[in-house]
Amino acid sequence: SPGGNVRVVVRVRKFLPREIERKAQCLISMDPHTQMTSLQAPKPKPGDVGKPKSQARGKVLEDKSFTFDNSFWSHDEEDEHYAHQEDVYNSLGEEFLDHNFEGYHTCIFAYGQTGSGKSYTMMGTPERPGLIPRTCEDLFQRIESSPSPDISYNVRVSYFEVYNEHVRDLLVPRTDSPHYLRIRESPSEGPYVKDLTEVTARNFAELMKFMRKGDVSRTTASTKMNDTSSRSHAVFTITLKQIHHDLSTDETTERTARIRLVDLAGSERAKSTEATGARLREGANINKSLTTLGRVIAALADPKKVRGRKGKELVPYRDSILTWLLKDSLGGNSKTAMIACIAPADYEETLSTLRYADQAKNIRTRARVNQDQMS
Ligand code: ADP
Ligand code: MG
Repeated sequence: SPGGNVRVVVRVRKFLPREIERKAQCLISMDPHTQMTSLQAPKPKPGDVGKPKSQARGKVLEDKSFTFDNSFWSHDEEDEHYAHQEDVYNSLGEEFLDHNFEGYHTCIFAYGQTGSGKSYTMMGTPERPGLIPRTCEDLFQRIESSPSPDISYNVRVSYFEVYNEHVRDLLVPRTDSPHYLRIRESPSEGPYVKDLTEVTARNFAELMKFMRKGDVSRTTASTKMNDTSSRSHAVFTITLKQIHHDLSTDETTERTARIRLVDLAGSERAKSTEATGARLREGANINKSLTTLGRVIAALADPKKVRGRKGKELVPYRDSILTWLLKDSLGGNSKTAMIACIAPADYEETLSTLRYADQAKNIRTRARVNQDQMS
């Protein structure tokens, strides 16, 4: 169906060595039948004296439950319901690629605190590839498995990051003199990055080469400027064009789908601005895109707020670079999914992520098939 809600899924990762070391408790449980995710308030450890940690600062922490379209349990591999990278792809990525071949734009973005598994889910590792490389592989498998004389394909890719309210091209690294790109808005295409490098990929290997190249320029920059990856938003975009030439009628139609895969900055950076003035200076800009994303989601989740009187736009897309660029993906012509990534032992950050995700479920987008008659 063309109109639909943002698909919201949640994934919990395993313990990291530092969590095992401090004997962290897993606060998350998921019901594989109802897809309900529950967050338990931390219990005092035996031997803890005084007030339980869950009542620190006079607040009583409560158990909370949320239901999402999917709950991916990636905490312990021994569990029969363990969600591998492949399972995440099969239940989300594959269907979204179906939509792309039908001519719909899609967007999948990963949200969550730093260290919750966003990059693992989107990019993964060479041994355990995530959604991006799996989408690339499936894309060319589909193209190559159905050769047809009347259909031709064009696959283009771009990769950029938003850091400090600047756009950096990741495919053409300009490391010595940071070159920031500008944003323009066209009536037909919406907001776009001017002069962004977009290259054609003729096969899976080429597409992977560009993906890796972009990833390298992202990490190179992050070691120079201390941990940009937790402060920057990475946007990987594939444009799939299908040119269909009907031999009997001599008509040519073109279908264009944009596949957008986004690894957001750590969500903890959204709140620090509001909490303390001191942090505001340090990371003011990166927080701006994330706090604006929160405001955009809140506005879109409440349909009364989407259009004011006289049809005035009330969604603050243009208040940050990220939300401006993702305008279509968030509230327009796109089928969109959010993956809320959570750590197993962090009550406050997890609750904030789950609430955010819960709100995103209410957002409706208006995806349509992007098809043009050429002759
Ligand atoms: P983020 O991008 O959200 O900051 P990462 O994706 O880098 O977080 O994940 C943090 C650490 O946890 C990494 O070492 C990563 O390999 C590991 N990790 C995350 N999710 C999983 C998972 N589902 N299974 C195994 N390891 C994971
Ligand atoms: Mg990351």
